Amino acid sequence: MPVINSIERELFFIDGQWRKASTSDLAPVFEAATERPLGVAAMGGPEEIDAAVHAARAALQKGPWGRSTPHERAAVMRRFADSLERRGRSTAELVSRQTGMISSLSVSTSATAPVAILRSMADLIEKRTFETRRPSSMGSTIVREEPVGVVGAITAWNYPQLLAMAKIGPALAAGCTVVLKPAPETSLDAYVLAEAAEEAGLPPGVLNIVAGGVHAGKALVAHPDVDKIAFTGSTAAGQAIGEVAGRSFKRVSLELGGKSAAIVLPDADLDVFAGGLKDAVLKNGGQTCTTNSRILVPHGRSSEIIDVLASYVDGLVMGDPLDESVTMGPMVSEQHRERVRSYIRLGQSEGFRTIRGGTDSPEQCPRGWFVSPTIFEGVDNRSPLAQEEIFGPVISVIPYETEEDAINMANDTPFGLGGVVFTEDTEHGLDVASRIRSGTVGVNYYSLDTGSPFGGVKNSGVGREFGPESLDFYLEYKSIYV
Ligand code: NAD
Repeated sequence: MPVINSIERELFFIDGQWRKASTSDLAPVFEAATERPLGVAAMGGPEEIDAAVHAARAALQKGPWGRSTPHERAAVMRRFADSLERRGRSTAELVSRQTGMISSLSVSTSATAPVAILRSMADLIEKRTFETRRPSSMGSTIVREEPVGVVGAITAWNYPQLLAMAKIGPALAAGCTVVLKPAPETSLDAYVLAEAAEEAGLPPGVLNIVAGGVHAGKALVAHPDVDKIAFTGSTAAGQAIGEVAGRSFKRVSLELGGKSAAIVLPDADLDVFAGGLKDAVLKNGGQTCTTNSRILVPHGRSSEIIDVLASYVDGLVMGDPLDESVTMGPMVSEQHRERVRSYIRLGQSEGFRTIRGGTDSPEQCPRGWFVSPTIFEGVDNRSPLAQEEIFGPVISVIPYETEEDAINMANDTPFGLGGVVFTEDTEHGLDVASRIRSGTVGVNYYSLDTGSPFGGVKNSGVGREFGPESLDFYLEYKSIYV
């Protein structure tokens, strides 16, 4: 494994400047596959958040950004995209090291997709009309779409660059200014966004980045000068954020947890099912909000389907996520590995048959926060194993009698984020998909499309990210009666 020098991020990016922390609170950031420290980052608190919010407010109201035209913003955003693109490979490597994400996935979600989002948002605002005029009873009304204001963006660690750009892209396009508070596990890659923004000539205060933990996140949510919170993370944190933000009527977008189901219909082609597992079930080692960790199988085909799952898991290569032959990396942290293992212990104690895996580390990976991919058979859909988000490589195979039962079970969780139906009959698959209460559903494959709106229903959140529709969540209507 190549050695990278320790990365030190002791400064925050506020108002276009690199600023020292008010305290000496430095947190280590680890390499998930080796458990070694990768670097340190200063952890901001209310003081840094306050400075960043003030800079964002000033850039919006006094700086050029607040008065910029869509064409001017698009030009800056394209330069920002170019700067990020030049850093793409090294950013992806850093994300892999911090989180354990395999390199192909890291390249697509940390290098390619964020750049594409920025460019597509730049294209979109050059074509979009932000103002219309319509007749009214007394004269006419100008209906204008204006930026929502200062955006507090708070992100999770599992796809750090993608989650950040899903907020920064539409926010900048709308003319908003941003304070980003990344997850502490991925503090290091967040500042690549600042370096690229600086190089691209984003005006000071338009994008501010303050690494920190929950303390900093809470300060951002409670700050009276923030107009919108765009959050990705757990449902528990989303509930807390929604309550606080609601008190001051801040706009919120909450992208939260999931517990999605793959329904394998009796006519499903199992080769198609096998081909879909990589993206639909074990993407990023199951550390994906849309992981379809419940596999609903018709009674008569249970053993065939379990064979497909077992052979898929047997073929996984675990190890250094930067090695291109590796197909599954470790969990992000020791604490998260313990959480995932606690669910494996729960499945064992509830007496579900373990087909593969368990709580031991994979033999070939004694170091690093690896978890053996685990399959449980005959899981009860009411068990916490089937109801709670595990966020790891733990698959529950749940038998069903009728299609109606399968749909009811798919819907019978507090979440509604993903889901997939496997069937030879696509029309019928679409019909089943329409009966799943969820923000996104796949038919014969599940993979996020960054060109279309993505988000959840029920406890999976409110609002949508990605696609042209994401811009709407950063705009506010103003009607001017003339
Ligand atoms: P988390 O909720 O613990 O933390 C997410 C972020 O919120 C971090 O930056 C954290 O510091 C901050 N935070 C936590 N509590 C806060 C509070 N009360 N106020 C303000 N900020 C707070 O989540 P995590 O463990 O980092 O990420 C995993 C979760 O994210 C999973 O539940 C996963 O499903 C979810 N997720 C959802 C999506 C989606 O698009 N729906 C995408 C990725 C991850």
